[in-house]
Amino acid sequence: MAAKATKYVFVTGGVLSGLGKGITAASIGNLLKARGLRVNLQKCDPYLNVDAGLLNPREHGEVFVTRDGAETDLDLGHYERFVDIEMTSKSSLMAGRVLLKLIQDERAGKFDGDDVQIIPHLTGAIQDWVIKAGEGFDVHIVEIGGTVGDYESLAFIEAIRELGVRVGLDNCVYVHVVYLPHLGASNETKTKPAQNSVRELRGLGILPDVLIGRSEKPANDGVKRKLSLFSGVAEDAIALLPNARSIYEVPLTLEDAGIADTITRRLKLKAKRPQLKDWRAVVKLATTPYDRTARVGLVAKYMDNTDTYMSVFEALRAAAWHNRCNVDITWIDAEKFDGDASVDQELAGYDGIVVPGGFGRRSLEGKIKAAQYALKQKLPYLGLCLGLQMAVIAAARNAGLSQATSFELNPDSPDLIIDTMDDQRGKHMTGGTMRLGDYDCTLEKDSLAARVYGTTKIVERHRHRGECNNAYRDLYESWGIRASGINPKNNLVEIIEGIDHPFLLASQFHPEFKSRPNRPHPMFNGFIQAILGK
Ligand code: GLN
Repeated sequence: MAAKATKYVFVTGGVLSGLGKGITAASIGNLLKARGLRVNLQKCDPYLNVDAGLLNPREHGEVFVTRDGAETDLDLGHYERFVDIEMTSKSSLMAGRVLLKLIQDERAGKFDGDDVQIIPHLTGAIQDWVIKAGEGFDVHIVEIGGTVGDYESLAFIEAIRELGVRVGLDNCVYVHVVYLPHLGASNETKTKPAQNSVRELRGLGILPDVLIGRSEKPANDGVKRKLSLFSGVAEDAIALLPNARSIYEVPLTLEDAGIADTITRRLKLKAKRPQLKDWRAVVKLATTPYDRTARVGLVAKYMDNTDTYMSVFEALRAAAWHNRCNVDITWIDAEKFDGDASVDQELAGYDGIVVPGGFGRRSLEGKIKAAQYALKQKLPYLGLCLGLQMAVIAAARNAGLSQATSFELNPDSPDLIIDTMDDQRGKHMTGGTMRLGDYDCTLEKDSLAARVYGTTKIVERHRHRGECNNAYRDLYESWGIRASGINPKNNLVEIIEGIDHPFLLASQFHPEFKSRPNRPHPMFNGFIQAILGK
């Protein structure tokens, strides 16, 4: 018997960017999964990049890494956390990837003398990519990056319009997320920009089936009526989404608005009664104020965009609420420590510090100083990728190896404690060339790592060029650290921890990508527990 055809939910955005389209798509995924449906998600981005690996984190936020090693948009992090699945490279499509393939095909003579055009070739190729990502799932949710009307995203909008005709409009739902501004002077929520955005979408040939109205303040039902009247979308297919206490509340708000039922009805999907008990429990945990607060210092480089460390923040929060405490995360500019700022003074008020991932030379010395301090003062320390590299250098320097450094700081130093492997040399700032995605790791019995994980075999996601230089491994114990997690295939160090230290744990991989709101990651959980003295 032929596999059942996949149904599609397309999510577009209007009026302005940064509306939380990704969270809306993820929330719809959450609700459909709760109805027993097999769900996949995909982000289509208009950037001419091939993947997100070389995008500037200051502007675009974190690069999220999938288990098969794709460097993707941070919305995939929302998808994984809200739907509790592990996605693959198929879930991320940037315009550059499609164009590159198209042009390679043209050069290889695959078009047999035809003109190669945006329509139908580019739009057709986008559709093929979308169909492939959705294969084997009941519902495939596709989010189109950017704002409807942008010149850049036109090919994607046209592709999903054509795809609706190709697979049958009964098999697709178009969800449009719009912004509803609030005018303080007249205390009114305005619908005009949303109306215009719907008109724009219609002008491109797409009639939205569902509207999601994002607003900063709660809007009343009159707004829904007005939106319905002017957009032609039935009232029961409109949800109002005012700012939530926690992003994890959004699925419940959409559920109350009946959006998932509208979608399953429209798509004629056989859905079970939604199982939302566990999710409701997560939201309760996430929105309860607790008596205790863990004060965490994030020693970082990018200071102006919270999105840069999105998964780290979410992992810290999840670990905190599962331990019934609040977490107060303060960003500490590591570059401060290059100057006169005293590490002792700056870090004195924190219960623990986190050194997250990062690239390039800037701020490294400051991070090393912070790690030296955490080692000496026995302050809980969690190191994530770069945070491991800095901790090993800190331990070496504390033990008197003053030249200890990394390939990024000083490639000519005699003591490259952190170095690149042969296959990574000279590839700085080139795309898709790092150690990426899942690798196995074996934990030493009786280690802190094995204790927090409750097992000795783990698989975690990577994104880096540098590694612990094995020539120095025998010295680790004399530096007060030990390598407690090793890659069994290539004998590379994956985890280090402090000896005689309450909690110094650092990994060469990025544990934050596998943390879930309903299942905090063991390393983050251990860190918060250490802070709480558990
Ligand atoms: N820049 C370091 C490396 O490439 C660390 C990377 C990271 O933190 N993701 O090895």
